[in-house]
Amino acid sequence: MSDDQEAERRKQQELGEDDFLAYLKAKGVSPECELCSHNDWVVTERITDNYWPVISVATFRGPDVFGGPYIETALMVCNHCGNVRQFARRFILEWKAEKARG
Ligand SMILES: [Zn+2]
Repeated sequence: MSDDQEAERRKQQELGEDDFLAYLKAKGVSPECELCSHNDWVVTERITDNYWPVISVATFRGPDVFGGPYIETALMVCNHCGNVRQFARRFILEWKAEKARG
């Protein structure tokens, strides 16, 4: 893969807080917490520059939870009650790519 292709691939995988918020709005995700009805969220699409939250998926093959299969995610945490909403990052990236194609 050329440097240009790699740069383009990386750009397509970029997901910012603005993208996440636009995705939630476009999908009609309620801004009210389903547990406490407050609307005060911390939105976390990444933990640090190149790291984002994941859900580890346990398998029947053995104790390979860490280093095994996982789902990349983005998080919303209610600032009032601590409720955590977790979204599969792939859906947000696909929505963003579709929007970019017009
Ligand atoms: Zn809440």
